[in-house]
Amino acid sequence: MANHKEEMILECEVVVVGGGVMGSSAAHYLAEYGRDTVLIDQFPLPHTRGSSGGHTRITRLANYGDPALTAIMKESFDRWLQLERQSGVNLFRPAPLLAVGSVSSGNTGHELDNVMASIHASGSTPEALDVASANRRFRTSFPSNYRAVVDPSAGVLMADKCLKTLQSLFVSNGGRVLDGWPVTSISPGDTVELRGPKGRVRAKAAVICPGPWAGPLLGGLGVQVPVRAEKIGVYYWKLRDPKTPAFTFIDLSSPENHFYALPDYEYPGYMKLCYHAGLRTDPDERDKVDMSTVQRKAEEYVKRFFPCLEPKPSVVESCMYTITPDNNFVLDRHPQHHNLVFGAGFSGTGFKIAPACGEALAKMAMGSQPQLDFSSFSLDRFYRSKL
Ligand SMILES: Cc1cc2nc3c(=O)[nH]c(=O)nc-3n(C[C@H](O)[C@H](O)[C@H](O)COP(=O)(O)OP(=O)(O)OC[C@H]3O[C@@H](n4cnc5c(N)ncnc54)[C@H](O)[C@@H]3O)c2cc1C
Repeated sequence: MANHKEEMILECEVVVVGGGVMGSSAAHYLAEYGRDTVLIDQFPLPHTRGSSGGHTRITRLANYGDPALTAIMKESFDRWLQLERQSGVNLFRPAPLLAVGSVSSGNTGHELDNVMASIHASGSTPEALDVASANRRFRTSFPSNYRAVVDPSAGVLMADKCLKTLQSLFVSNGGRVLDGWPVTSISPGDTVELRGPKGRVRAKAAVICPGPWAGPLLGGLGVQVPVRAEKIGVYYWKLRDPKTPAFTFIDLSSPENHFYALPDYEYPGYMKLCYHAGLRTDPDERDKVDMSTVQRKAEEYVKRFFPCLEPKPSVVESCMYTITPDNNFVLDRHPQHHNLVFGAGFSGTGFKIAPACGEALAKMAMGSQPQLDFSSFSLDRFYRSKL
């Protein structure tokens, strides 16, 4: 057993907790800005236990109706392409996005108008399709009360390569990685001290991006971020129509039908199609949750609308969402200790915006203002008086 004298103590300018895409992005920009930075993760990296594991994520330029995200989406899209050029690794593969919505009693289909307007605003030209044309082109079978729009700017981020690239650039800029190093407590102050079973890390500032573990870790600092962790079923379906094109997909017709899909860039010959919600779980005990209801829902959906796929998934994996009450993330400073900054609650949409969020967290940890406006994502929105 190590005695007190042998305890590891590491000093640095900024420490980042969380080696998922948010923490890795923040760490990358801190090192690029010349800060002596340590990136910590509780598990050996890479791992698939948080939210950033797996090979693919959808990205796009347009915000699909949330104006607070307009500049963040654009900035992130550009930064991913810049990271691709900087590293020489192919991080982005184009794949037009088919968005569908339905017109029925109680549903005007206005969500597709928002999608069209935001694609225009992002500088691309959306393509409105009648449902028969969409079904022909994409090998789907949506009924006649559906509408369809194609977003030509969308595509797929090769997620594992993105993460590896951020971490490699971080290390090549002098960053240090401590993995397999769970942080058990954080003591604020002019010097922030992080403790774990393997020693202590001291820094002038800390960036905390704990993904599904955000509740307990930030709660220990007196920061109550209202988040819940959900296990998401990730399903891969064998393509039975070889003429199915490569496309990304979302169904905006109703929360019950909120499915999304990605082309077979991960498992050749198998499309990825998942439901945009899961079941609440403790991230350390996620496989105790029975996901059969979610899988059945996905099978029914595929049977109804995706005749190009076999009706049962061939490969089943899982991932974690971290969800806030308004489904938007939190990016903020600790109310008393401004050298502690955090990002959490990125749910099922955070990967694409990690470069802009990470850069903003890096700037905040350095004591500067982020270039973009993140005020809509502050923590106090959950605690403001509604009077
Ligand atoms: C199935 C699925 C599909 C998705 N699809 C898309 C998509 O198409 N497009 C898109 O933009 N986004 C998508 N997302 C969302 C996106 O992947 C997440 O928003 C993003 O990965 C969140 O990253 P994060 O860094 O916040 O969290 P994580 O990746 O979970 O990282 C948090 C890290 O913190 C570490 N940690 C936590 N506590 C401690 C501690 N005490 N000590 C040390 N380390 C600690 C964890 O080990 C973990 O590595 C999807 C997510 C899932 C699950």
